[in-house]
Amino acid sequence: MAIGAKIEELHASLPQGVKLVAVSKFHPVEALMEAYEAGQRIFGESRVQELTVKHDALPKDIEWQMIGHLQTNKVRQIVPFISLIQSVDSVRLAECINREAERIGRVVDILLEIHVAQEESKTGWKYDELVEYLHSEEFEELNNIRVRGVMGMATNTEDEVIIRADFEQLANHFNQLKPLFGEEFDTLSMGMSDDYGLAIECGSTMVRIGSSIFGERY
Ligand SMILES: *Cc1c(COP(=O)(O)O)cnc(C)c1O
Repeated sequence: MAIGAKIEELHASLPQGVKLVAVSKFHPVEALMEAYEAGQRIFGESRVQELTVKHDALPKDIEWQMIGHLQTNKVRQIVPFISLIQSVDSVRLAECINREAERIGRVVDILLEIHVAQEESKTGWKYDELVEYLHSEEFEELNNIRVRGVMGMATNTEDEVIIRADFEQLANHFNQLKPLFGEEFDTLSMGMSDDYGLAIECGSTMVRIGSSIFGERY
């Protein structure tokens, strides 16, 4: 299906209250423009270099989100324009984003990436360590980040029982953390091309869909 038609189909079929992040990593600006023309305004990228180039090239009403692993030495490049950093998974990164945001007088929205998948390789907080950090004084002092919610990925498997259990665990963590924050803690980002239906059943409010919009990445 053409990119624009796929975007329109997704906008029509996603339940109200579920935001679509079009994951456009590795795809050229022309492909993003097709999605834009079909009404898509939120794009997710996983590399700083690519994100800044695309931000410069494309319309200014796009909301850019960082969804990939972020190195602290690259934070400064995206803080001026990023609308959401989904992949915050360490104290060091949270503090770095806060510092850079403070430097330019901004508050940056972030999600806390939590590890629930079975693979060791996947990034994200261990939930217990995250909870401990969120109760610390160091965390309280971060006034230039606003925690909007939680992001996570399910185990890379075809087994729906496992995927559903992972999403349910993320949803539980989201609900457990919510009382620590205010009304602004409203985002549970889970679900990709192959599993977003299940994620929505488990309470997702934000799906990150790449290959089923733009095709395979090479
Ligand atoms: C690439 C990526 C996606 C999109 O994956 P698809 O399977 O192409 O939909 C979603 N989330 C993250 C964190 C990604 O890196």
